[in-house]
Amino acid sequence: MRTTLRGVGVSHGVAIGEVRHMGTAVLEPPAEQTPAEEVPREQERARQALEAVANDLIARGNLAGGEAQAVLEAQAMMAQDPELIADIERRIATGNAAERAVHDAFAAFRALLANAGEYLAGRVADLDDVRNRIVARLLGVPMPGVPDSDEPYVLVARDLAPADTALLDPTLVLGFVTEEGGPTSHSAILARALGVPAVVALPGATELAEGILIAVDGSTGEIFVQPSAEKQAELTAASAARASSLAASTGPGATSDGHKVPLLANVGGPADVPAALEAGAEGIGLFRTEFLFLDGSGRAPSEEKQAATYRQVLEAFPDGRVVVRVLDAGADKPLDFLTPGDEPNPALGVRGLRTLLAHPEVLRRQLRALATAAAGLPVYLEVMAPMVADRTDAKAFADACREAGLRAKLGAMVEVPSAALRARSILQEVEFLSLGTNDLAQYTFAADRQVGAVSRFQDPWQPALLDLIAASAEAARAEGKSCGVCGEAASDPLLACVMTGLGVTSLSMGAASIRYVRATLAEHTLAQCERAAGAARATDTADEARRAAHTVLSGE
Ligand code: PEP
Ligand code: MG
Repeated sequence: MRTTLRGVGVSHGVAIGEVRHMGTAVLEPPAEQTPAEEVPREQERARQALEAVANDLIARGNLAGGEAQAVLEAQAMMAQDPELIADIERRIATGNAAERAVHDAFAAFRALLANAGEYLAGRVADLDDVRNRIVARLLGVPMPGVPDSDEPYVLVARDLAPADTALLDPTLVLGFVTEEGGPTSHSAILARALGVPAVVALPGATELAEGILIAVDGSTGEIFVQPSAEKQAELTAASAARASSLAASTGPGATSDGHKVPLLANVGGPADVPAALEAGAEGIGLFRTEFLFLDGSGRAPSEEKQAATYRQVLEAFPDGRVVVRVLDAGADKPLDFLTPGDEPNPALGVRGLRTLLAHPEVLRRQLRALATAAAGLPVYLEVMAPMVADRTDAKAFADACREAGLRAKLGAMVEVPSAALRARSILQEVEFLSLGTNDLAQYTFAADRQVGAVSRFQDPWQPALLDLIAASAEAARAEGKSCGVCGEAASDPLLACVMTGLGVTSLSMGAASIRYVRATLAEHTLAQCERAAGAARATDTADEARRAAHTVLSGE
């Protein structure tokens, strides 16, 4: 095996530890015939596996203590059950291999338990676990599920599903490496939430030997197999330096050659403002006002209440800009009192700006509240509408703002492919665009953002999405106007560089991502970002686009 492997770094930092594989479900062993002369040896192999698994369960029970000990000891007794052992030996004597005999004997025992009343039926899962352990040991494959380890380890898996990771002990997981997955995969999200380094989309990850020492660099996506002491020291020092460069990364967002890209924060209300200030956000790029409407009252909040809340956010950025999005109700953000309950396809129905145009009084009240909130403040207020599909939508929104007496810079979110394709016509009505890449991905790929089965389409590196981002940015440039990004895509540091190269003029993200994006942007010139953008768009898949950009930006 090569000593350096490369995947996609999705959660920063360096982890050095031994590989523990996430065991996959045990496959049904093949029904091979055992020659008569092999029977005693095969029976001995089965007995040893049963005994080893029982001893292991007892040992882990002793360590765990309490209720867990009782469960593990009960499981050990299953592996020591004389009748079960006799049945396994009988099955081997009739020509089955040990794995197959264990599998079938447990299946028969399982059927008995399943029919034996509620209490015993509840033990079926424990029995399956014992069977999987014995079969895995006989087959020489990792135990299924989360690794059994009392020592910290680097978790290696094909991919991680929420159910797999529910049982993870976060104090033992030093980092993640997966063969599949992308930056928005569950593995990546979980790693970022745990604050551990992670590399995904690493070809050959599942072939890393169990127990081997590896170093995971979650920033570069590199994996070093059996790193020397010098390499370990070098990586640890580089990681510490990166941490302090992140801490030192302050000031406005810009490329290394000074091309400015304001870094803004996404907030849901005043409670999110301190974190945005702490991260050095240059303003708010997306104020999701719908949280204010979710107070459980079953109606829109009063104009006064809205104005007071908006003012709190505006006051926090006296010299910055604050982009407020008017209410985005419907589909993934339903509001009982506004969202029709009988739509066959809520994401394609009355949502976003469409909801507001169907309830003009709600829009009017919100716009008046914004005008009141901004009165007398030096803040640079911008107000945008969600789900603008065409110029007619943009004009309806701009007219409503003017009628409400709102003096602010007006914008349209680009969340529907039609808006990206006809961005120049939309810009005849408004002053700026803001790309909502979460919905733009949903509508570009006809893939509901809430449906896990189609989640691969939420990967913002898809070249088709990059094309639509480029088209929007190009239209804004041609009109002398701005085009920011406020979807999740902006929080991926590498993609932030690519989008800068595509011509977007600001990036808005959750406060926690700002430092990473700022530091990464500051490491590259605008020309590098443009080359990375060109390389990413020249590919056919999200993974290829990510790799192509990485290659350009890492100077390989
Ligand atoms: C988006 O769709 O990318 C976006 C920023 O809006 P939301 O996630 O609130 O729909
Ligand atoms: Mg959206």
